[in-house]
Amino acid sequence: MTLVKKAAAGLLTVVLVLVLLSAGMVESHAATMDQINDGDVFLKQSRSGYCTLTSATMMLRRYAYLRGDEDWASITEGSTADVAWLYGTGLFFTFQYPASSGTIEVSSASLPGDSENIPILVSLLETHPEGIVLYDSYAPHAVLLTDYTDGTFYCADPAGGYGSGRIPLSESYAVRADNASCYWYVSSPAVQLECSHKWQFVVDTQPGCETSGTGHEVCSLCGEVKPEVTLEPTGHDLLMTESHPASYYADGSRTYVCRTCGESKTVTLPMRTGIRITKQPVSQTAAIGQDVAFTVQANGKDLRYQWYFSEDQGKTWEIFQVANGSQNNTLQLVASRQNNGLLVRCEITNDQGATRLTNTAEIKIA
Ligand SMILES: [Zn+2]
Ligand SMILES: [Zn+2]
Repeated sequence: MTLVKKAAAGLLTVVLVLVLLSAGMVESHAATMDQINDGDVFLKQSRSGYCTLTSATMMLRRYAYLRGDEDWASITEGSTADVAWLYGTGLFFTFQYPASSGTIEVSSASLPGDSENIPILVSLLETHPEGIVLYDSYAPHAVLLTDYTDGTFYCADPAGGYGSGRIPLSESYAVRADNASCYWYVSSPAVQLECSHKWQFVVDTQPGCETSGTGHEVCSLCGEVKPEVTLEPTGHDLLMTESHPASYYADGSRTYVCRTCGESKTVTLPMRTGIRITKQPVSQTAAIGQDVAFTVQANGKDLRYQWYFSEDQGKTWEIFQVANGSQNNTLQLVASRQNNGLLVRCEITNDQGATRLTNTAEIKIA
């Protein structure tokens, strides 16, 4: 009857711990892996034979740090010795350390030895980020086993001259995972490392050419989710499929199709409003009485022509009032003694207000 009651009480405790864990009320989220591996956390033993005491002290410091205890550094070899050390004998198999943040319970257990040790140690480190004191009776020596990362055990060796801070266990003085015979561990409620978040971006709704999307960051280690963010529209990825350049007579157009959504769009290129002379009038030599023609050719819409003449080498210009074609693109004259050396040119205008003057051409009598 008593046994059944005890079992029930144990089960209740397990259930409560699980409820607390799932509600995120874990006792600690106070420190990251980097913080508890900081050089200041680790210690070197003050004298030979103190390796278990110093290793246990480092374990208590890391546990207190993870529990959010600001006084973790006040845990020293001396303060641990006060409650856990029997001079001439060694570290107690179980003890309680009175930390500022509350009592820390420490227990010990033996290991089967050889390769059977490995999975046990790996599993212990998963639930004890503060580490465990690992004792090798062959050496004999103890280190603080800190973590198992990428297939390697790491430790802090209290022995002077065997690396400072966190080092691979294989580089410690004589302690090897498969030779280890027993370990000390914190049996108080588990503490957890603060997640050193590894954020990954997840798209919830793909943005379109003209519509925005949504996405959020999620930690691939702990699953924490950041608030949703808006993704800007990507804009169309336009490919030109047709092109009609604008001319002096008509509008042009360009047609595009979006490679993403297939939408097509045509833009108008406005007609060119200027005037472009494509052929200038050229000077003519003729015999008296012969017909002479000056021609200009130009691009443009609704063009008007007006020919001018100059009798003083281009100083002043007058409008041809009566000449044949004086308001046409071809001016026709008859060569005479009077118009020998006459200069002519044409002014071209359009409805948009553009004006162009041709080069000057001359009549010479042969
Ligand atoms: Zn995380
Ligand atoms: Zn598109």
